[in-house]
Amino acid sequence: KQQDLLKMENSAVTVAVRVRPFSAREKAEKSSQVIFMNGQETVVQHPESRQSYSFTYDFSFCSVDASDSNFACQQTVYETLAKPLLLRAFEGFNTCLFAYGQTGSGKSYTMMGFEEEVGVIPKFCHELFSKLASIKSEEVKCHVEMSYFEVYNEKIHDLLVTREEPNQRRMPLRVREHPIHGPYVADLNILGWLELGNKQRATAATGMNDKSSRSHSVFTLVMTQTKTELVEGEEHDHSITSRINLIDLAGSERCRSAQTSGDRLREGASINKSLLTLGKVISALSEQALTKKKVFIPYRDSVLTWLLKESLGGNSKTAMIATLSPAGSNVEESLSTLRYAQQAR
Ligand code: ADP
Repeated sequence: KQQDLLKMENSAVTVAVRVRPFSAREKAEKSSQVIFMNGQETVVQHPESRQSYSFTYDFSFCSVDASDSNFACQQTVYETLAKPLLLRAFEGFNTCLFAYGQTGSGKSYTMMGFEEEVGVIPKFCHELFSKLASIKSEEVKCHVEMSYFEVYNEKIHDLLVTREEPNQRRMPLRVREHPIHGPYVADLNILGWLELGNKQRATAATGMNDKSSRSHSVFTLVMTQTKTELVEGEEHDHSITSRINLIDLAGSERCRSAQTSGDRLREGASINKSLLTLGKVISALSEQALTKKKVFIPYRDSVLTWLLKESLGGNSKTAMIATLSPAGSNVEESLSTLRYAQQAR
C-alpha cells in the first residue's frame, strides 16, 4: 500500500478504470457480473476458473448501478480525472487523456457522452472557455486553436475537412482569439466541429460490432497565454503554450476475436501496433518519473506516439481511463484491458 501511494505521487501517469452498466444483450444472455470495485481496487472473479484477480489503480469507477460505493457519474469522472489536467494546462503543462478499452465498453460514452450525459470533451471545453472568459486582466491574452483528426492504418486524416470544403486544411482552426467575446459562442462552435468530426470517423462493419471504431481519434486544443510585462520601462511579451490532447483510442479487442481478414486484418495489425507502442511509451514514462533516470522511450514506433511525442514527454501530465464491460462473457477482454492499464502506472 505504501508503495502504491508513493507510486501515485511520483507517477507521470494517472490511471483509472471504469466499468459500464450491463447492455441489453448482456442482460438477455443473463451474463453474470464479474467485475467488482472497492476503493482503488478492482477485482475480477473469473466465471469459469473461479480464480480472482486483483488490480489497484488511482481510481476505480463503477457505473454498474448507482448504489455501488464506487459509483461514478459523468461529472465525477470529469472532476476526478480530467479537471486536474485542465488546471495543469493553465499552469503551462501539456496534457493527454486516453480512453482505452474493447469496442462497446464505454470509451466514447466517457469521452463524448450524449445529450444530458455529456462526457469529458464537451465538459472540458466548456470549463476551459469559461475560465478564459473570466480572466479579466488586460495583461494576459489567450489564444486557442483546435484540431480533430483520426489515425487510421498508421495514417492521419483531418476530421474537420469535408468533401464540400476541402480547402479547410489550409486554414488555422482558430476558435476564438480573445476572452471577451463570450464563452458560449466558442462552446457551440466547438460542439459543431466535434459533431462534424464524429460523423466523419471511419466506421465499417466487422464481425465484432457493426459500429466498431477502428481508428484513434485525437482532439487537440493548443492554448497560448501571453502576458505583457514591464521590464525596466520596456514591454516584454512572455507566452506559455499548452497542448491538450483528448484521445478516444481504437477498440482494443485483438484481431483474432474480430474474425476478419484482408483489409480488416491489416487494420487490426496497425491498431495492435499503435496500442502496444502507446503502452510501452506510457510505461517507460512512468518508470522514468519513478526512478528519475533517463529511459529510452519508443515514440517513433507508431504514428500516434510520434504525433503526441511533445505532449507526452517532458513538461506534461498524462491520464488514462480504461473502460470495461461488467459481464462474464467479456471477462478475457476485461482482463487484458486491466493488465494494459496496470502496466501504464
Ligand atoms: P465504445 O466507445 O467503447 O465502443 P460506447 O461508449 O459506445 O463504447 O458504449 C457502448 C454503450 O454503452 C453505449 O450505448 C453507451 O451509451 C453505454 N455506456 C457506456 N458506458 C456507460 C456508462 N458509464 N454509463 C451508462 N451507459 C454507458
